[in-house]
Amino acid sequence: MNKISENLIKINHRIAEAARKVNRDPRDIQLITVTKTRDVATIEAALAAGVMDIGENKVQEVREKFDKIGRNARWHFIGHLQTNKVKYIINSIDLIHSLDRYSLAEELNKKALKPVPVLVQVNVAQEESKFGLRVSETIDFVQQVAADCGNISIQGLMTIAPHVDNVEETRIVFRQLRQLFEQISKQNIPHVDMNYLSMGMTNDFEVAIEEGANMIRLGTAIFGPRN
Ligand SMILES: *Cc1c(COP(=O)(O)O)cnc(C)c1O
Repeated sequence: MNKISENLIKINHRIAEAARKVNRDPRDIQLITVTKTRDVATIEAALAAGVMDIGENKVQEVREKFDKIGRNARWHFIGHLQTNKVKYIINSIDLIHSLDRYSLAEELNKKALKPVPVLVQVNVAQEESKFGLRVSETIDFVQQVAADCGNISIQGLMTIAPHVDNVEETRIVFRQLRQLFEQISKQNIPHVDMNYLSMGMTNDFEVAIEEGANMIRLGTAIFGPRN
């Protein structure tokens, strides 16, 4: 068995273990395999090993790889998206995890031929180095996008937790996003469906699952360190 398949088996065990700890069904947790910096052959090996969802963070990489891989995978965009590059990927991406400002919503709304599924990125820990809305402005943002942008379908929230030595310190971040997710859910905003809570990466996915993540985004755990 190759290394990717071995890693996927180990990860699936860890997902199941984390889910069991909090009485969740592991089948409710979707794995997004983060393929940024990996070449097409490596991605094809992952698809052969059973991966279905891949995540990329650069427009140029999506364009090159989509040419070769096409609809053999579901495509997730997880990086900061420049407004002037929307047109290059809008028809390839199945879910954009990184709606982080109103101008991007407007551009997506304008260029979309059909409703674009998006997650709103929240910078829960308010790190300078990261994109995303503040927790306190997210509800208004969701309401405004839902009211103004008929071609955008808000499907949930995404966050990137701070990189810390003690993974327990991420718990409060994930918990806050989960609470915000539920708060928005309860508002029953027209055209907003809180389906996905995208949080958890190689270093912290088990804590994220314990706190309610139903999409986790893993690169290093599947492919090893990036160059
Ligand atoms: C790179 C990246 C990941 C995956 O990170 P790993 O630590 O390799 O699992 C997940 N989410 C986002 C937004 C990323 O940019």
